[in-house]
Amino acid sequence: MLEIQGLRSGYGDITVLQGVSLNVNSGEIVGILGANGVGKTTLLKTISNLIKTRAGTINYQGKNLTHVPPSKLLNLGIAHVPQGRNIFSKMTVAENLHVGLDNVKKRVNPQEQLDYALALFPKLKERWNQLGGTLSGGEQQMLAIARALVTKPSLLILDEPSMGLAPIIVRSVFNAVKKIAQDGTTILLVEQNAVAALNVIDRLYVMDMGRMVYESQEMNDNELEKIKEVYLGAG
Ligand code: ATP
Repeated sequence: MLEIQGLRSGYGDITVLQGVSLNVNSGEIVGILGANGVGKTTLLKTISNLIKTRAGTINYQGKNLTHVPPSKLLNLGIAHVPQGRNIFSKMTVAENLHVGLDNVKKRVNPQEQLDYALALFPKLKERWNQLGGTLSGGEQQMLAIARALVTKPSLLILDEPSMGLAPIIVRSVFNAVKKIAQDGTTILLVEQNAVAALNVIDRLYVMDMGRMVYESQEMNDNELEKIKEVYLGAG
């Protein structure tokens, strides 16, 4: 579904991505793990063309994405939930979700999409008329994911959904992520919280200094042991 080859990008004179390759198959939850500052966010932003590709290719469903502006991605079925959530804090939950819907009105049935998102995150229904900025961190993350979901994406890109959340909330967000994938949306997920991510992902890549340094096969006990050695430093 998504095939990336030799991707290079960066900021000014700095090259952050040093030739990244990865692929995501339809229906998978693929995780990219890595420490602070290794280039995970830069990779997701390059996929969404928020940062220019300097070399390499990004193919999505056979289409070259490297020159597709971010605003056109929703119509191709790609939704990106950025790190830090970026919800509109002065708008209500309802208004935030309608902003998501405004982008795709012609393509989706708005009520169906709202019903789906609210069934997944019932808390948002309770907070319907509350301003985004007054929600808890977990609720803001749920709203950010819901706002992406109402656009009915084929590929959902999540940048550190666990950031700043208490463990119990992380679990509930990740359960929702799993459900979204079971319902047919492919997911590419960046995480520093490896333990939380390992519970839901089908396959993973480990990134270090702008490169993929490990690529897992299908997850099984053997693979998990290897990942612990490579990434978690526990044998
Ligand atoms: P984190 O999880 O902390 O966001 P990350 O793996 O996502 O880490 P990136 O945010 O992609 O890492 O950052 C990779 C490198 O690029 C870092 O060295 C960072 O300092 C640098 N960088 C990120 N944003 C910019 C920017 N706007 N201008 C210059 N350098 C940047």
